[in-house]
Amino acid sequence: MKVHEYQARELLASAGVPVPASEVVETADAARTAHERIGGRVVVKAQVFAGGRGKAGFVKLCDTPQATAEAAAFMLGNRMVSKQTGSEGIAVKKLLVAAAVDIAKEYYVGMVVDRGQSAPVMMVSKEGGVEIEEVAARNPDAIIKEWLHPHLGLQPFQASRLAYALGLGDKPMLKAASKVLRGLADVFLRYDCSLAEINPLITTTDGELLAIDAKMNFDDNAVFRHKALQAMFDPSEENAHELRAKEHDLSYIALDGNIGCLVNGAGLAMSTMDIIKLHGGEPANFLDVGGSVTTEGAVEAFRIILSDDRVKGVLVNIFGGIAKCDTIAEALIAAAKEVGFNVPVVVRLEGTNVEKARSMLKEAAVPGLISAADLTDAARKVVAALNAA
Ligand code: GDP
Ligand code: MN
Repeated sequence: MKVHEYQARELLASAGVPVPASEVVETADAARTAHERIGGRVVVKAQVFAGGRGKAGFVKLCDTPQATAEAAAFMLGNRMVSKQTGSEGIAVKKLLVAAAVDIAKEYYVGMVVDRGQSAPVMMVSKEGGVEIEEVAARNPDAIIKEWLHPHLGLQPFQASRLAYALGLGDKPMLKAASKVLRGLADVFLRYDCSLAEINPLITTTDGELLAIDAKMNFDDNAVFRHKALQAMFDPSEENAHELRAKEHDLSYIALDGNIGCLVNGAGLAMSTMDIIKLHGGEPANFLDVGGSVTTEGAVEAFRIILSDDRVKGVLVNIFGGIAKCDTIAEALIAAAKEVGFNVPVVVRLEGTNVEKARSMLKEAAVPGLISAADLTDAARKVVAALNAA
């Protein structure tokens, strides 16, 4: 799960990290009055789940309420296209109007889970502001790391070490920097983050240390533990298909290819994707209908897959263990009736009640449905059907 910058700022502020005053608005008029309340110079920032906003023109410094209203109208009226969005861009529905700061220097501070070390890692760099991935590729030594004990968190000596590495080790600054780093670590551990970043953390020309951008991702499997995060969930920013799938307890992840996959079991779904690629195809999604799938759930899975107009063929791969093949056959027949198969659907069924399922499908004589003898045969057939189309 992701949250907006303004929500990440709230979490940081609650952990003692200083952030500039700000307001969230949804109209140009509201942006104007927000500026009047905040006073001075403000920065208007699109609240979307993608970075690179600065370079895309969706972070704008404004000196007057009128300029703020104009910047707001532009951002709300245009889709933002950045390195992280793809060429179609994303619509902007919310804006942050924040007190602007005079920047002396920008720093990067971030945390992720380091799978190799089985521990969270805090990373800092003097080369903040820009894309940290570029710094990591070009000059990995410019990123300094400290691994955290998962229960003890960031120790004071580690915070000091990182502050020194940033050149923030002098007396008054050291205390402020440690507070920011410990605050970030606290949020990361308390809310089961998979990523938490402040980029940039800045020093102002007056010698203040402030977080002026924040990004956080949370482990979906832990969100149930955090009421505060549940309240921050913004369905309008999520992939519509993934949301529908979630409502029906289906694990669905949209991908870039054109072969829809409907599979029971995550491992089987992975190997189905592999074998599609082995035979020259590209999967359009990962979809695990789970072991206890119902006919209704499976029909919904078909609706989701077939409503994606990039899908030019479907591979159904079911191993009937707990899920029964006849349940899937029933769903196939129902889905064919309800949504219609406008693309070839290759079906490989094996396991519990497979004979019954086969005779059901045979009897129904669903148009567009192609039976496969095994998984390799299924992958070949779906790729061939696509190439023939
Ligand atoms: P991102 O591009 O999506 O990561 O958005 P950021 O919030 O990080 O803003 C991008 C850049 O805009 C920052 O690295 C700063 O250089 C600049 N910026 C953002 N807020 C301010 C501000 O209050 N004052 C000044 N001078 N620059 C700012
Ligand atoms: Mn940033």
